[in-house]
Amino acid sequence: VGDSRDYDREVESVCPFCGVGCQVSLKVKDNKVVYVEGINGPANEGRLCVKGRFGFDYIHHDHRLTKPLIRREDAPAKGLNVDPDNWQEVFREASWDEALDFAANGLKGRGREVAGFGSAKCTNEEAYLFQKFIRQGFGHNNVDHCTRLCHASSVAALLENVGSGAVTATFNEIENADVAIVIGANPVENHPVAATYFKQFAKRGGKLIVMDPRGQALKRHATHMLQFRPGADVSMLNAIMHVIVEEGLYDQQYIEGYTENWDAEKAHLADYAPERMAEICGIDAETLRAVARDFATAKAGMIFWGMGVSQHIHGTDNSRCLISLALMCGHVGRPGTGLHPLRGQNNVQGASDAGLIPMFLPDYQSVMDDGVRSAFTEVWGSGDFSNEKGLTVTEIMDAVHTGDIKAMYVLGENPAMSDPDVEHARDALAKLDHLVVQDIFLTETANYADVILPASAFAEKSGTVTNTNRQVQMGRPAVTPPGEAREDWAITTELARRCGMAWDYKSPADVFAEMKRNMRSLENITWDRLDRENAVTYPSLSPEDPGQAIVFGDGFPRPEGRARFTPASVIAPDDVPDAEYPMILTTGRQLEHWHTGSMTRRSAVLDAVEPEANCSLHPSTLRQLGVDPGGHVRLTTKRGSVVVMARADRAVAPDMVFLPFAYVEAAANILTNSALDPYGKIPEFKFSAVRVEKAESG
Ligand code: SF4
Repeated sequence: VGDSRDYDREVESVCPFCGVGCQVSLKVKDNKVVYVEGINGPANEGRLCVKGRFGFDYIHHDHRLTKPLIRREDAPAKGLNVDPDNWQEVFREASWDEALDFAANGLKGRGREVAGFGSAKCTNEEAYLFQKFIRQGFGHNNVDHCTRLCHASSVAALLENVGSGAVTATFNEIENADVAIVIGANPVENHPVAATYFKQFAKRGGKLIVMDPRGQALKRHATHMLQFRPGADVSMLNAIMHVIVEEGLYDQQYIEGYTENWDAEKAHLADYAPERMAEICGIDAETLRAVARDFATAKAGMIFWGMGVSQHIHGTDNSRCLISLALMCGHVGRPGTGLHPLRGQNNVQGASDAGLIPMFLPDYQSVMDDGVRSAFTEVWGSGDFSNEKGLTVTEIMDAVHTGDIKAMYVLGENPAMSDPDVEHARDALAKLDHLVVQDIFLTETANYADVILPASAFAEKSGTVTNTNRQVQMGRPAVTPPGEAREDWAITTELARRCGMAWDYKSPADVFAEMKRNMRSLENITWDRLDRENAVTYPSLSPEDPGQAIVFGDGFPRPEGRARFTPASVIAPDDVPDAEYPMILTTGRQLEHWHTGSMTRRSAVLDAVEPEANCSLHPSTLRQLGVDPGGHVRLTTKRGSVVVMARADRAVAPDMVFLPFAYVEAAANILTNSALDPYGKIPEFKFSAVRVEKAESG
């Protein structure tokens, strides 16, 4: 893998893993991608990380689905029990006609009993079609995707206070900043190419402030590392803002010109003196004061955040604090300033923009607005659909348990691994009357399917994707799909026809043209232009404008053009440690594996580097447990228990354990808590009370 330099042709496309959106050149020989190089995309300038460079061979893995499959009548009960090398005991091969008819017959006419999970791994066109499929075909908004599990709370806070759910500046803009905060993110592992820009920034003298309960590689480049107590984000951020108010470091002119509700915020912060908050957040008052001064007095400052901020029941409050911090210092809308939630999946920004969420149509237009809905039904040429917000990812699973949802169409998502308290989700999948799964592998979710539709990997299809920077980029096919697998847009289109919708798309370009009719964000961005230029940032002000890297320099898309301060109070985590579960579990990703592992664990290089389920514990904790590094521990929460290999890691506090969620054999989400942030409806993946014991094999 990756060692052959012998190729027939090369095709420019976009890396399928993270939201950085690195542009790649796929080198192809005999209908196989043989190696990958970075090219000069706006986000990566030729750089790639280990996943982008070596993680592509999953597309040619033996486990690829090559024919439609239908569950056998004599199959065992639904469960996580299908061997990908011996699937014939559970499924039988079917023709496309039979499988599509079977899939459609189980869905059509069922209205609100149907729900859909689309995917941030699919293209913008595929996401748009998927949400249209549910809304037009079934008359409601029960459609969602994994944004609900990553940045839904960030988006809720940004929409509320800034008027837009996307970043206000690209991450590359850090080169113009004097100070940058990176909080609740581990970009060296999760956004590795973005991290190279952060390191360069520090190297040229920029003040890099890293805030995270877990230490991390970026710490080496930081002027301040605030390793705060898990869950104490709001206390810490309010204390920093308290100092800015107390010492008069805020930007009065900016606040007067561009914001509202400042007086309420200022009054609220009076209670958060750093000397009071120091013990709660585990950071001494002097450090909090120093950070406040560095950020507020800089000419230009940026804030980057990740799922350490968003995946809490107070995730929206965390983001509200970050927005307030930037606003009070006037660090928005100028070079080197901005708010940037680092988006996770390669197309989670685009899938959200395309309306793959239960409360918004494309471009975050409310489903509750009659004018908006009729604008869409006019383009779609069909009757109205519900004005009620639909159910979110975890609410849909709850509705399966209550019997309100009986059939699902899941495209490219893996809720049997990714949902919190995952046995609850697996039980729901097993309960469904009818489950249609469209994917490239027989994923854990596909184990529960009634019918499986074999789809295409990124290198086998055309389509646009939008990265964390708001850059819409063109993905191109380099090889043909294996066997009878088809492109996702074509499968959804055919399924829609068989469910009675008059769809007539001939290509993804047709879909993109339809999207443009009701998406102002795509003004001046055409399929031909993307094909020519590879990437255009939205908003683009003219057919020649490459797009606006920084937005909101002259006001916000809110009433009177003003951003809002929304004060945030401290809310304790939902599942706090006690005598039975005395430690704190936090989950996340690691450099070599991507999300539920369906792609990277089938990549030879990545799996060779990181083959085994593992967790990280402080060396002193391991000593207390009597476990050597490399031995095994049992992690138990109120939801369940897993056994996993333990690594010694000083970056993890003695009362914490970090567990990656890519491994089915020790699925982190068996342990996690499904309590939700009330605004973003995002689960609290980052905090569960846990008991850690030496395992029998430890
Ligand atoms: Fe792919 Fe992200 Fe790595 Fe870039 S940083 S190569 S987009 S995984």
